[in-house]
Amino acid sequence: MAAELSRAAAAGETVRAVGAGHSFNRLVCTDGTLLDMSACAGVTSIDREARTVTVGGGTSLAVLNAALDRVGLALANVGTITAQTVAGALATGNHGTGLAYGPFASLATALRLVTADGTVLDCDEHTDPELFRCARTSLGALGIVTSVTLRCVPAFRLRSEPDTRPLDDLLDGFDEWAGSADHVACSWLPWRDTASTRALHRTDEKASKGAGRRPWMSTLDEVRCGIAGLGSRLHGGAVPWLTATLPPRGPATSYVDTGHRVFSFPQPVRFFALEHALPLHGVPAAVRALRGALRRFGLYSPYSVLIRVGAADDAPLSPAYGRATGYVNLTVPRTARYVELLRTVEHVLREHEARPHWGKAHTATAEVLRPRYPEWDTFARMRGKLDPDGRFANDYLARLLGSVDE
Ligand SMILES: Cc1cc2nc3c(=O)[nH]c(=O)nc-3n(C[C@H](O)[C@H](O)[C@H](O)COP(=O)(O)OP(=O)(O)OC[C@H]3O[C@@H](n4cnc5c(N)ncnc54)[C@H](O)[C@@H]3O)c2cc1C
Repeated sequence: MAAELSRAAAAGETVRAVGAGHSFNRLVCTDGTLLDMSACAGVTSIDREARTVTVGGGTSLAVLNAALDRVGLALANVGTITAQTVAGALATGNHGTGLAYGPFASLATALRLVTADGTVLDCDEHTDPELFRCARTSLGALGIVTSVTLRCVPAFRLRSEPDTRPLDDLLDGFDEWAGSADHVACSWLPWRDTASTRALHRTDEKASKGAGRRPWMSTLDEVRCGIAGLGSRLHGGAVPWLTATLPPRGPATSYVDTGHRVFSFPQPVRFFALEHALPLHGVPAAVRALRGALRRFGLYSPYSVLIRVGAADDAPLSPAYGRATGYVNLTVPRTARYVELLRTVEHVLREHEARPHWGKAHTATAEVLRPRYPEWDTFARMRGKLDPDGRFANDYLARLLGSVDE
């Protein structure tokens, strides 16, 4: 890795790393050298006593989950997909849901960074804590993350409890709902007045019969959305009708399975997503404003708006920096028709102290973002120190963070 960076430096090329390439924006794009981090994948060591695992930055969460499973350990919380790499998930502030759980990067206890001049830096909570905080969520702007140590917990099972309730009831008691289970999520189709919720409780119960098939029900839902999305190319206003017409998948029921198999599900349908992190207490007002705007707009995505929650984080560029957070996600089919919808949603959420997910679609620039991150300058100083020549820059990063010397 150091040799590759020295070669790029000698050739005057910029460098970006790519993990699984699962970000919905141009974070990884470069005219210079693109480092494929699959060459830096695999589990290096597991310390069962300390409950930590050390992996290469290019290791996928799926591989990591399986390795931990084999020794009776697990990650405490992950998002809905496991294809992404550990370093990619750190870099973009990836998160799951659960009021007691910070973003994925909060599981990191140490990491190794190779900087622009090929220097290898090891940092953790005690050794250079400022670098560690900055490098935990860095958008790939500080260097190449080659190794990460993550905190684990004993393997656990979850009971998934689905429910349906009026959206307004949920918003009226939002804080209470957010803390009502280890992990909660709410899916809501904006033309409907009810929302589907999912509560996940840690349990000692055995895995349910046929539990392995359950994640595929969510996959099936996404396929239905994909089909409705194709239909909506012909007639954008037809989404509510199409969604109601496609064969229903049957009511969701409660089941128990191993934690990581309940958190995530296979997602083969390609879509586009926007997600913003809001102060938890601001979610009800933001969602009500969103409902008004979307109903006025009248063009709907077949995918539900997804609401998740999380604990505060202290990485300067973490979207959850300094506040308990509610995440509001809009997924749309990959057609030009939905650009206006994405813009509308972003515009509404931006009025509610929102910070965009670094791995998803948004139009924010450094001018908009800087006032939303109290420690923006801490990160900017670290970037100026580690990458004074902008070796890890690209056009997209210049839009988000400004240039290195700003
Ligand atoms: C179907 C789907 C579901 C998703 N679900 C969720 C979810 O539940 N929760 C959530 O928060 N997000 C979710 N996302 C977003 C996605 O997980 C994140 O954007 C994540 O970054 C993708 O990881 P990656 O390995 O693909 O990173 P990439 O997209 O390849 O890279 C992301 C950034 O990390 C940098 N990077 C990658 N590797 C390194 C490295 N070794 N060193 C330094 N920088 C590096 C890249 O340069 C880039 O800046 C989802 C995305 C998809 C497509």
